[in-house]
Amino acid sequence: MPRPKRCRWIAGQPLGLYLKPQGIPLRFLEEVCLTLDEAEALRLADLEGNHHEKSGESLGVSRATFGRIVESARRKVAEAIFQGKALRIEGGVVRVVEKRTFLCADCGHGWPEPRGTGRPQACPQCESPNFQRAPEERGGGRGRGGAGGPGGPGGAGGPGRGFGKGRGFGRGGGGRQF
Ligand SMILES: [Zn+2]
Repeated sequence: MPRPKRCRWIAGQPLGLYLKPQGIPLRFLEEVCLTLDEAEALRLADLEGNHHEKSGESLGVSRATFGRIVESARRKVAEAIFQGKALRIEGGVVRVVEKRTFLCADCGHGWPEPRGTGRPQACPQCESPNFQRAPEERGGGRGRGGAGGPGGPGGAGGPGRGFGKGRGFGRGGGGRQF
């Protein structure tokens, strides 16, 4: 039985798009779909140049999983470029969160940090280094052995939020945008 897909978190949504070779109507093109988490993996690894370990952390997956996601993303982009396919960015199983919350074990202070900024140095209130990521945010997924529970927690945000607004590609040399 297929393992339920885990929810992944992304910080910056890509600009929402369809990239295609110029001058050929979409209906004649083969299409590859980049999932939202693949797009985010590309952004983290290739645009921002982060290590897989750190990128995986921002996406809520292991380093190895991140490696697979980014590899698949690169292959799709390469197919689009070299085989002239249309590249569409779609939703995967993701949840969009801007912030994560940390909790100080010493003073009990809780505070949000934007994603993708790395781990804070110390509690902003008492400067203790003794703090943790608030557990509820990481929720779900872990060690779920089967039983086919549907989807990840909440699954909010699902596919395609904010997409499909068509940003006018094909108007002279488009397709740089990510
Ligand atoms: Zn504190």
